[in-house]
Amino acid sequence: MCGCSEPRTQGNLVEHIIFVMERTLVILKPGCLQRGLVGEVISRFEKRGLKLVAMKMVQLDEEILKVHYAHLLDRPFFPWLRDGMMAAPVILCCWEGYSAVQVVRDMAGATKASKAVPGTIRGDFSLSAQENVVHTSDSIENAEIELKRFFKDEDYCDYKSPLDPFKYAPDEY
Ligand code: UDP
Ligand code: MG
Repeated sequence: MCGCSEPRTQGNLVEHIIFVMERTLVILKPGCLQRGLVGEVISRFEKRGLKLVAMKMVQLDEEILKVHYAHLLDRPFFPWLRDGMMAAPVILCCWEGYSAVQVVRDMAGATKASKAVPGTIRGDFSLSAQENVVHTSDSIENAEIELKRFFKDEDYCDYKSPLDPFKYAPDEY
């Protein structure tokens, strides 16, 4: 929501940027829950300034995992991935913020956690290509599809974030 009428200027350049709030899906995987990393991982997204707008704990089943990981169905490791994702409940979260999809993806780090940069979630809490703590949507388009897969409209909470003026410039939210 931009309350600013003048476009941002830099020298003689006028930036006509439309700031768009994005929403993205994070799944705290069964290993995250079992290893007691839930608070730590959620805390990182909160501290970055992302806003939690929906959250629930569920037990995933094979049916939804075949859809969610359709791009990996024919990979030999799919049965291990499926079983790992059903080994305990997961926590589904929707985080909102400026550029949230890419920001959250970067915070998660590389899929193969042994290659993930320290400071990322996977780079700090995993060495595994499979048991890599979190799922994050990989594009704005997929975030929309994945959020619809796991959340209904009524799962979202609409609330004011009084600290937004301390987190963003007037034309950024
Ligand atoms: N995965 C795996 N082995 C691989 C690649 C992926 O076990 O070689 C698992 C891993 O849990 C990963 C998930 O499959 O998070 C989905 O893979 P994707 O390529 O979509 O990676 P992501 O988007 O999670 O980084
Ligand atoms: Mg993926």
